[in-house]
Amino acid sequence: MASNREAQNPVDLDDLYRDVILDHYRSPRNRGVREDATISAEGFNPSCGDEIQLSVAIVDSTLNGLGFGGSGCSISQSSASMMTEALTGRSLDSAREMSRHVQQMLTDDTFDLDAVDLGDLEALSGVAKFPVRIKCGLLAWKVLDQALANASGEAVNDDSDIPTRVTSG
Ligand code: ZN
Repeated sequence: MASNREAQNPVDLDDLYRDVILDHYRSPRNRGVREDATISAEGFNPSCGDEIQLSVAIVDSTLNGLGFGGSGCSISQSSASMMTEALTGRSLDSAREMSRHVQQMLTDDTFDLDAVDLGDLEALSGVAKFPVRIKCGLLAWKVLDQALANASGEAVNDDSDIPTRVTSG
């Protein structure tokens, strides 16, 4: 049973580097700048050195497409790749809700994963067990929040100390 395995290996790296995460790291989806982007934002995770640039094409309150660039660890880049795939075709409201759920999954250990449907993004749930890597997983979503807030003229309220800024749009 799991207890035996946990005793031998209390921090299981398989929880961090799940297959779907490694797949997105090796074969990133939507890598590059969207030519038709209506909003762009970028962010930096100083604790690991990860960078994400995000460009989003928003038409009629729908995310028609997302592109990302940047460099950094596998968690940061895979999280961005999975995000672009998961959010394509979603409404602004739906994208905001998904972002909120993913961030809760990563930071709130009372979050009920069974109450939501995050698809492949649930692979990121293991990152929550590795506190030093949580900001790696959060980075793309913080950049998204910044981009979406700017798209609708809102201020973004963020206490995560991940610096983000809107670069154009
Ligand atoms: Zn990282």
